[in-house]
Amino acid sequence: MRTKSLPLVVLLAHVMLLGPARAPAQQQPSPTQVTAVRAGKLIDVDHSRVLTSQIILIRGGKIDAVGANLAIPAGAITIDLSNSTVLPGLIDCHTHLADGSQQGNIDPIYQLKHTAAEMALESVPNARVFLESGFTTVRDVGVYRALTDIALRDAIAKGYIVGPRMFVAGAYVTVSGGAGAMTGFAPDITLPWDLRYGEANSPWEVRQKIRLLAAAGADHIKILSSGAVLTHGSNPQSQEFTPEELAAAVDEAKHFGLRVASHAHSPEGIKNAIRAGVASVEHASLIDDEGIALAKARGTYLDMDIYDEECIQEEGKNGSMTADFLEHDRNLGETHRQNFTKALHAGVKLSFGTDAGVCPYDRSVNQFAFMVKYGMTPMQAIQSATTSAADLLGKSEILGSIAPGKYADVIAVTGDPLADIRTIEHVNFVMKEGKIYKQPK
Ligand SMILES: [Zn+2]
Repeated sequence: MRTKSLPLVVLLAHVMLLGPARAPAQQQPSPTQVTAVRAGKLIDVDHSRVLTSQIILIRGGKIDAVGANLAIPAGAITIDLSNSTVLPGLIDCHTHLADGSQQGNIDPIYQLKHTAAEMALESVPNARVFLESGFTTVRDVGVYRALTDIALRDAIAKGYIVGPRMFVAGAYVTVSGGAGAMTGFAPDITLPWDLRYGEANSPWEVRQKIRLLAAAGADHIKILSSGAVLTHGSNPQSQEFTPEELAAAVDEAKHFGLRVASHAHSPEGIKNAIRAGVASVEHASLIDDEGIALAKARGTYLDMDIYDEECIQEEGKNGSMTADFLEHDRNLGETHRQNFTKALHAGVKLSFGTDAGVCPYDRSVNQFAFMVKYGMTPMQAIQSATTSAADLLGKSEILGSIAPGKYADVIAVTGDPLADIRTIEHVNFVMKEGKIYKQPK
């Protein structure tokens, strides 16, 4: 953006010839402009209840007041959602929006055939689709091409492109050849720096990578403490990193005020991560009773992506998923879902995370119905993607519910998601920070 250096006379000529310059795509309403949303029903996730005939007053991208009898100031823009159910914007705590097209997520070798610029630009539609399906915030947990997620986050924040508010990891912190590493190519191939950015093989290497990531602008650290499903040569049952390395990660991240999310499928990988003090365990597919008790005792979130097995097996049926990935997945799927139910009944904190990118981006919303199928009430499922997700991010003061002082992230559906959770698969109104991105047609 170089307009700042244009001489005034050039700017004036520009305005006279072409009219006022077009507003940037995501210009926020002016700080003094008030917007009033009339909500027929409002899901109050903070108090597990539904309020009716509410008015939400919004100013400067934040919520000013919520109530049944608020006076709407003169000059306010009014949005009528009196026939809809209004909810806080959803938060997905496990996405991969910046790995390019979905193919880039499914098979990491795709990365070797595309430049970093291609990967970043291919990711632009992912962000839009995600926002339009109702997710106003994501916790993005890793990219193969290091730092493309930071570029995507900043492009959205600056209004160059449309997407959810992103919190990003910058890269995967992984052992060499591990679950977050690029694998599947000949050993005498040397990868470019950004495809091996997060590899670390000792506590001090872990600390060094975290220092680099913090300096590069990461919002949290993603480490991998077991093998993976979608990595060639990886065994989801294995453990990666030693307890000492994991403890170093949590300690070093803390120096920068960052939390750690650990990918883990295997029971030992999960428990090692919890004992090290991570904020969340991702997947937690094969968690055992001891792991569930530990998560409960330590207040560790489990971020269990129980829907995406549907997509992996579908890809298998149409031949676009490799045999080794299918084999990894087949053994995990049902156990994963049963363990979700166990963890729920044990009272473990559960956040909403889908591993978006494994399934197409517009299908993350489908996970709500699976969470209900496997034991949550619709209210609990919605809270996992609002209040709980905001808590996991450490952002409860600005995200997660429709309350004064928080960002005006507001979505709506026709119908009642508490009666039929699948109505949440059809979000028809999306506002992020006071700006509308989708409206009922
Ligand atoms: Zn993932």
